[in-house]
Amino acid sequence: MSTAKLSIDLEALATNWRNLDALSAGETAAVVKANGYGLDTGRVGQALATAGARNFFVAAAEEGVALRRALGPNIGISVFSGHMDGDTHLLKEFNLTPMLNSVDQMLRHFENLPGHSFGVQLDSGMNRLGMEPAEWAALREIALGQNPVLVMSHLACADEPNHPMNALQLKVFRDMTEGVEVPRSLSATGGILLGPDYHFDLCRPGIGLYGGLPYSDAVPVISLDLPVIQIRDVLPGESVGYGNSWIARRRSRIATVAAGYADGLIRAMGAGINTYVGDKIYPVVGRVSMDLITVDVTDLGEDPESLSLINHHQTIDQVADAAGTIGYEILTSLGHRYARSYSG
Ligand SMILES: *Cc1c(COP(=O)(O)O)cnc(C)c1O
Repeated sequence: MSTAKLSIDLEALATNWRNLDALSAGETAAVVKANGYGLDTGRVGQALATAGARNFFVAAAEEGVALRRALGPNIGISVFSGHMDGDTHLLKEFNLTPMLNSVDQMLRHFENLPGHSFGVQLDSGMNRLGMEPAEWAALREIALGQNPVLVMSHLACADEPNHPMNALQLKVFRDMTEGVEVPRSLSATGGILLGPDYHFDLCRPGIGLYGGLPYSDAVPVISLDLPVIQIRDVLPGESVGYGNSWIARRRSRIATVAAGYADGLIRAMGAGINTYVGDKIYPVVGRVSMDLITVDVTDLGEDPESLSLINHHQTIDQVADAAGTIGYEILTSLGHRYARSYSG
């Protein structure tokens, strides 16, 4: 087979959810935006619902529709982008709960879908989504009178436990929600790891479920195996790949594998990563091209059929690091060309 194999371990995903749930003081929901961090909303959602998740979050109403179709009526689906113009019909038909972000959204929601469930998103300092303290102060009584199901905010620096922004946002969130008798939610994966002060009634992990940092105890969820298309001998002084960026210093055997930046293996990761056969390491050499990557397998002593790029030794975060990015971006960039297989 000439396409790379992306294996997704749904049992590992469920294990990560259970372990994060055990760490959280209150309910543990699951964030499955961006097609379940690139791994398929429906499959990921089903595995997490089986593990015990009852509430899910997506970014956009359309993502909520896909999840509702996969999971049926008995779970909660909330939408971070809130109630946008044109969303009313989807929110209603698929019973999605918008997390209202602004005065405009609140007015739109109460006018178009009176009595339909909603939450409120507050800005505790990140300045991305949510109502500012002054707006909230003005609308708080009206909003609370309509029975929101959740009041939430989001931490900007939760992956840095010692960052003073965490305590600052915690204080702002507490001040904004004091006396509010509605379930409260502040933490994603990073916030769960900051400890129980940050947990409130519901936590919303995403990346940790999928095996990524900052949840360093996560079980890896994906592995990636790249088929070898061709192996050649290269003499000292010969170059490999675009731009002649790698030049052999010894007689080398170079394997060309089928995957590249069109598959989300970002060009910038270049020679900073390795491939594996079992626990033996073979470095990527030369540039990552659109569909191909070249690997120095000289020391292998045999011709491999495939080389592993993401596994227990080299996680999504290590691959991300080599490209100057984060595991989130690696996951959500995984392309459509992979032969995907799900286990668990
Ligand atoms: C993406 C997101 C989450 C999940 O964050 P992770 O860091 O992936 O755990 C939670 N809440 C909001 C508002 C988000 O946008």
